[in-house]
This record gives sequence, C-alpha cells and structure tokens, in this order.
Amino acid sequence: MNQCVKQEICLEQKNIRAILNKVFVILYFLGIVVLFPSCEIKKEAPLIETSLAKIEIKPKNIKYGIDLDQYRIVKKKIRRGDTFGSILEDNGIDYPEVYNILKSLNNKVSLKRLVTGKSYSLFFSNDSIPTPKAFIYEPQIDSYTIVQLRDSIYGKKVTKPVKIVTKEGNGFIENSLYETMMSSGLNDQLTYYLADVYAWNIDFYRLHKGDRFKVIYTEKFVDDTVSVGIERIKAAIFEHAGKEFYAFEFQPDSLKGIVEYFDEKAKNLRRAFLKAPVKFGPVTSRYNLKRRIAYYGNRIKPHRGTDFAASVGTPILATANGVVVKSSYTRGNGNYVTIKHNNTYSTQYLHMKRRKVKVGEFVTQGQVIGWVGMTGYTSGPHVCYRFWKNGRQVDPFRQKLPDAKPISNELKVNYLNAIVDLKTQLDCISFTYGSTYINSAIAQSNSDIQ
Ligand SMILES: [Zn+2]
Repeated sequence: MNQCVKQEICLEQKNIRAILNKVFVILYFLGIVVLFPSCEIKKEAPLIETSLAKIEIKPKNIKYGIDLDQYRIVKKKIRRGDTFGSILEDNGIDYPEVYNILKSLNNKVSLKRLVTGKSYSLFFSNDSIPTPKAFIYEPQIDSYTIVQLRDSIYGKKVTKPVKIVTKEGNGFIENSLYETMMSSGLNDQLTYYLADVYAWNIDFYRLHKGDRFKVIYTEKFVDDTVSVGIERIKAAIFEHAGKEFYAFEFQPDSLKGIVEYFDEKAKNLRRAFLKAPVKFGPVTSRYNLKRRIAYYGNRIKPHRGTDFAASVGTPILATANGVVVKSSYTRGNGNYVTIKHNNTYSTQYLHMKRRKVKVGEFVTQGQVIGWVGMTGYTSGPHVCYRFWKNGRQVDPFRQKLPDAKPISNELKVNYLNAIVDLKTQLDCISFTYGSTYINSAIAQSNSDIQ
C-alpha cells in the first residue's frame, strides 16, 4: 500500500544515507565496521505473537484473580461517609462479623480512608441468600485492594500488570506543542517529556509554525488499553527553525544508571545552562539596551534581563549548578535569588513570590529555587532572568554557552552502534498529519498477582 511505497523510497534514501554514515564512522574510528540496517522493521514479530498468544490462553472471565462467572458483581462508587465496615453492613453482613473481619485484616490493608467517588465492587455468591464473598476497592487505575470474605479472611493491595508498548508519533506545530499533541491524538504527557529532552536546545515557547517532530517512545498500559502514562522517550527528532535536532537515549554510566540524550554525532544534548528558568513561559521582553518605556516619558531605559511570563506560583528553576550567593528582597527586584555558577557566570531571578533557597546552598540544574510572583517593580507575573558573564550583564540568547560533559571516546563507538537501528526507524516514520500508530508491543509483567 501507500505506506509500503513510502517505505521503499525511504529505504533507498536511507541506504544512501547509511553509506555516508558508514564512511563517516569508519573515518572517525579507523576501521570499525558498523552494520546499517534498512528501513525494514526488524522481525521481532514471532516473539511478540508468542507472548500475546500465551496471554490469550487464559479464560476470559478471570479478573482480579477471580473467576467472574461464579459471582454476581455489584460495582458502585464510594459515597461521602462510607466506610469499609458500613458498606459490609449495608450488604448483609452483621456487625459482629464485620468486627471479626476488621480484626483479622489487622490493618494489613489500608481501607481507613475511602475516597469519595472512587469505585468498589462486591462479589456476591450465587446462593439463595447472597452474601459478599469479596470486596475490591480501586482508588487508582493501576492498582486495587482486594479483601477475600470467604472462609479465610485476607486482604492485599495488588499492582496491576503493566504492559509497555513502544509507539511512534509525529506532529506539526501549528500553535503550541501541547495543542499539537492533543490534535494529533498523542498522549499530552509527551509534551513534558519532549520539553525535558530538549530543555537545553529548544525554547518551546518560541517554536515556529511548521516546526515538526517525530518520536519513538514507550507508554505504560494496564488492562490492555488504559494508559497509565509515558514511560520514556527512546529517540526523537525535532525540526526547529530549519534545523534538525536528533535525540537518542543512552546510558553513559551503567553503574549510576543515569540516562542522558545525545544527538546523532554523540554530542550531549545537555548544556551547562537551561534555555529558560521556567518550563513553559513565553519571553515577553528580551535583553535590550535601547528599550524605551512610555511610563518613563519614552526615555531609554535599558532592559538587561529577559522576562519570562508565567502564572503566579510557577516553579523557577536554577538554569545551571551553582551556589546561592544572594537570596533577599529589594524594592525594585522584589524577592530575588542570585546563583554563582563559576568564576565566569552568575544568574539572577527577580520578582519571585517566594524564595526556596538560602545563601550558601548548592543548587543543581533544574532545581526549584522559588516561585513566580510579582514582587518589586513589575506590571505582571513574570520572572526577570539576568545573566552575568565576567561581572557584566549579557543577553543569554546571544551567548555561545558551554556544553555539558561529552561522551567518552570508547563509549562513542558503542553509542553510534546502538543508535543505528533507532535512527533508521525514526527516519522512516513518515509525517502523517495527526496520527500515531503502535509499532510493537512487548508484554512485561510487574504484577504480584498470585
Ligand atoms: Zn526584566
């Protein structure tokens, strides 16, 4: 079909690119041979089929480890004032027995505070006088608490088995990244994951119309179709302002287990400084030495900071590791914090509602140091971000900022080998407006049922 034709064209392009890549890698590492696969998706299908087939052998009516056919199930929602004991009493269990049940559970499961509106189910026997044989409380979608009320009484909290599914997605930026996720039918959580991956490279409040992205990620599901969130991003490409930004997940230090993202040339995506001190907030006023302000009679009033608008209470993040050298209040700055990163760079964050750090404290990149407010001279909630280089305030957007720790040379070979398949897969995703499809499913169980 259409997809196949596209795949073939893609295959051709990829082969050429693969050859170029190969030459590049060989030149780079003198004689190390790397095998580049084609656009064809790796044939892992039999494995998946076997594991799915195994799941299907189970009788259909088993849920919560109970054969549903043997019971009449009543599903309800917790009402205000309901307690575990009152629910049992309302359903035909006398108080002395309820007392015994509570005693034998002996606080092993927490049913003290049932949340109004959450679901619970009672499993009634099919006898002439039906009595509840099991109680299940489901405050979260990924877990439940079961109490057996048959001969022996016991209760436990069960985490549902989670299925990890690898998915591909793509989108065009019309307005914001978030809106693109929604209109493309992608999980909106992807917005935050992508923003994290590219926090050092792309300012998501200054995206251009026509910017686009492709992403390979894993999503967690329970009960087959209920998403419980994104697991991680494996690879992505973001085309921003005509530039391609590749990102591949890699663990440079398996002992520490830290996962980082690198580009197609093994360059760390992380920079010494974040692009912005707030996760999402448009720049409302840039560093401008010739700014004129009507309020001051249209006189030049230089603005040496960069203003990021965000609502009151938005966390303000340290843009790099450093030591807090000021955490105080002045009439103009309001609540503000100054961080010294090294002998060259310092950053300042103004107009905070509240400060979260003290002088002398060491802060790490991305750590919350305070919250957006409108203290000091400001007409609306924003953070005025000031960037100091060698004692002078400069425009952070015009600085060539230092990179984070590069990948070691031995690891670089491993890395470039490891990303070959992912890069091919990524390049082969075609931009199909507003869609996503599941590429492969790997069943993974972390359940403690039985
Ligand atoms: Zn400002």
